[in-house]
Amino acid sequence: MLKKKSKPGGKNKYRHIFVSNIPVGLYRNTSGPKGHFISGNPAIVKMFGYDSVEEFMNISVSDIYIDPKERKDFSERLITKGQVSDINLRLKKKDGTMIWASVSARAVYNKAGQIKYFDGMVEDITLRKQMEKQLEEARKTAETSNRTKSMFLANMSHEIRTPMNAILGFAQLMQKDRTLTAEQRKHLEIISHSGEHLLTLINDILDMSKIEAGRMTFTPVTFDLHTLLLDIEMMFRVRTDAKGLLFKVEGMNEIPEFVVTDEGKVRQILINLLGNAVKFTDKGSILLQVGMEKKEEQIFFIAEIIDTGTGISRDDIPRLFHAFQQSSTRTQTIEGTGLGLAISREFARLLGGDIEVRSKVNEGSCFRVKIKIQETKNKPVTAAPEKHVIGLQPGLNLYRILVVDDKPENRLLLSEILRAVGFETRESADGSEAISEFQTWKPHLIMMDIRMPAMDGYEAIRRIRAIPEGAGIPIIAVTASLWEEDRQKIKESGANLYIRKPFREYEVFDAIGTCLGVKYVYEEKDKIQPTQTDEIPLTGESLKVLPEDTVSRLREASISLDFDRLMEIIENITPQFPQLAEQLKKLAADFQFDTLLKLISEKSA
Ligand code: ADP
Repeated sequence: MLKKKSKPGGKNKYRHIFVSNIPVGLYRNTSGPKGHFISGNPAIVKMFGYDSVEEFMNISVSDIYIDPKERKDFSERLITKGQVSDINLRLKKKDGTMIWASVSARAVYNKAGQIKYFDGMVEDITLRKQMEKQLEEARKTAETSNRTKSMFLANMSHEIRTPMNAILGFAQLMQKDRTLTAEQRKHLEIISHSGEHLLTLINDILDMSKIEAGRMTFTPVTFDLHTLLLDIEMMFRVRTDAKGLLFKVEGMNEIPEFVVTDEGKVRQILINLLGNAVKFTDKGSILLQVGMEKKEEQIFFIAEIIDTGTGISRDDIPRLFHAFQQSSTRTQTIEGTGLGLAISREFARLLGGDIEVRSKVNEGSCFRVKIKIQETKNKPVTAAPEKHVIGLQPGLNLYRILVVDDKPENRLLLSEILRAVGFETRESADGSEAISEFQTWKPHLIMMDIRMPAMDGYEAIRRIRAIPEGAGIPIIAVTASLWEEDRQKIKESGANLYIRKPFREYEVFDAIGTCLGVKYVYEEKDKIQPTQTDEIPLTGESLKVLPEDTVSRLREASISLDFDRLMEIIENITPQFPQLAEQLKKLAADFQFDTLLKLISEKSA
């Protein structure tokens, strides 16, 4: 109803009907600070809560603005550009309430090129804005709760890994004790095995939270695919044999030996799928069929895990790969978290492939894994087999190592491991203690726990690095965290290396070896088992495995005929050198201090 006299009938009649009924507000207003409305359609009158067009036309343009600055900006833009569209403005109704409006307008000029008035169109978008706000809030809440969940999982797993470090570490230390009975040894193995199982579960949960938080990383390495498959075959043959299932691996000659991809993830996928196959098959067979697929320059490793087990119903298949889903055909007694398949598929996708499944209830299932690989002629760098360190190579300096950890049991574990081979150690319970110990004791190396109350490991490392004599000291960070970002942070803080809790003894020694260049004496594998009969005669040579300071303490105790101290020193070396300790104990028990001193001097000769 723009103010143009409309003749009844003809084209204008329809225009009039259109303008009156359109749900969009239309207006015309004069320009300038005192600008007012010249006309408006019923929709705009209603939109702003006025009773009639006449009432609306009595108000000035500034009356509908909440913020005068918004009005100023809008007019300036309109005057400069001649027209604007879809500008979101907060406008005011007659009763003072606010509406969100989307406004488009244009300037109308006279023949002299001066602005006569403005024509505009207003759409009430309050509802849309409210919905957008609600959606945004819901998104934020979901994001926060997802982040909270990931943080919770990361923290929980950290909290569990830390005490597990002490449990598994001391179990490892105790396994070396040759005075243990066969039954005690078995119990220790159960502790270790159950601990490892618990760790796997925690890792699964953490993997899932990493996937959900988009923090899963791809770490390609060159590795021997044949060895990996043979290892897995060996691992599962024990289980299939125990269940009386036939287990076959076929197609090994179809696949290359050395490949590049994320070995850890390939291993985990195959272990998860084969684990399920064994779990859900009570009779018949399991087949691991491997092969290759080439597609436009890309090479894929294919593994099909085919079982003759319970099968999965058609209804269950679509949700199989969702976290915490278990099919309706499974029996309640079978253990599992419902995470294995979800993690495996995410891993396969991360590795440029996928997992597909075909299955029939009561007939069996086939899981087909496809993973992008690169072939290589390069031999992988293989890690040295795990060996037991029993001492430092003779002739080395005495090394001082500072062990920093807020948990006394973890400090004790590391100290015992290190002292047993001849390192001297001291302990600090937090970052600031570590800094002052570093300054007064001047250790050769620091083992630094990362998460500690008060001053944490990052800060302590940074501060030590800032001290001139701290710039070059080797620092090995010890962390229970598995997050990639934390590793990055550790490197940035200035640590030379890091080891992960729960650590294995050899990881600690390897890291120290790398930093200090020390060499170790290793126990031969077959000597780890207790042998009661074939006792080697005790000579000066036998004492060479002992750390230098242990030998001098033995000498002092023998010279001063101190039986109790002698026994105490022997007790301390028992876990590492059970046979030698046994022989020394016999000498001490017979008060043969002279013989002992003779052996010690033979050793030093
Ligand atoms: P879970 O820890 O429960 O095994 P998974 O994610 O590995 O978790 O598997 C999810 C579910 O898929 C299982 O609980 C089982 O119901 C079904 N499933 C997986 N593999 C097989 C299989 N080979 N045969 C039959 N059912 C299977």
